[in-house]
Amino acid sequence: MGVVGKVITGFLGLLLCSHLHATVVLQYHHVSDKTPPSTSVTPELFEKHLDYLESQGLRVASLPDVIAKLKKGEPLPDKTVVLTFDDAYESVYTVAFPLMKARDLPFTVFVNTDPIDKKRRGFVTWEQMREMAEHGGTIANHTADHTFMPRLREGESRAQWRERIKAEVMVAEKRIEEETGQSHKVLAYPYGEFDNNVKALLDELGFIAFAQNSGPLGQHSDLLALPRFPFGGVFGAPDDFALKANTRPMPVSEVARCSDRRCRQTLDDVVVAQGDRPVLAITLKQENVLPSINCFASRQGAIETWVDGNTLYTRANEPLSPGRTQYNCTAPSGERGRFFWLSQQWLVTDKDGNWVHQD
Ligand SMILES: [Zn+2]
Repeated sequence: MGVVGKVITGFLGLLLCSHLHATVVLQYHHVSDKTPPSTSVTPELFEKHLDYLESQGLRVASLPDVIAKLKKGEPLPDKTVVLTFDDAYESVYTVAFPLMKARDLPFTVFVNTDPIDKKRRGFVTWEQMREMAEHGGTIANHTADHTFMPRLREGESRAQWRERIKAEVMVAEKRIEEETGQSHKVLAYPYGEFDNNVKALLDELGFIAFAQNSGPLGQHSDLLALPRFPFGGVFGAPDDFALKANTRPMPVSEVARCSDRRCRQTLDDVVVAQGDRPVLAITLKQENVLPSINCFASRQGAIETWVDGNTLYTRANEPLSPGRTQYNCTAPSGERGRFFWLSQQWLVTDKDGNWVHQD
């Protein structure tokens, strides 16, 4: 190979490599041993997470820096994580904040402004929020009242829904700005719930948004459905944490959501009906990864996959039941201990077409 060939190959390698860079967003609620286990990690475990990041040379980045890169389409830094906390529970201030401050780590708190305005017990106060904002804290939006964003209320028109949800978002953003001087226009969907109507409204309002489907950020991430790895309950033990903190984005060129094997597009990106078995179609840049992909569905374990050309299709073995469900697809990345990871959230409506709430 001539010099030119080598230069071109090197350049392609670099391009390919930059797509595989991984920034992983970690999601916490409580850091306490006195709060509900399903949404809590203990202070000891949280400190173990921070120790692991430090010992493995994983960098902790601030969310605004990462988002600026995503918006510009720049490669994300590799071996990098972002720490995020939802709901602004008091243990974020009393337990997590001192640990992060001592290590000079940036972090983000997604805040519901109503409980703080009402000085509800168990939540951080605005004064504490300002202190965190002065020491590496990004304060971002989680709506005013932790509402179920995609759901229409009984008898509510789509226009009324729009005004109500717009107010939920804009009131929270205004209160955060008044109290902390920050306005990042970044929102985390309460319960990770959204649909195409919610996405369109947030897009119009100039927001980007985080969901709760797991996975690392990649250059192809949907800016209105950014993935995060939630920790608490069964998630976050040292092995699980190491696996997730080191994931890399599946090197996809396209992802499609289909209602059947012929791959007719679903009506919504996430909402499907009880009994459906939606198909996720993942088209990869590197065909050699295809045979090693395994996919799983919540409560169903490994699920069916098939390949056509450079696209992998997967769907649940059993019809989906009402509630939140995910498909997760993973494959070894070729780098030791690091897996490619992609997930898809489904909100499955009941037999009457209604969304059934789950905490
Ligand atoms: Zn929340």
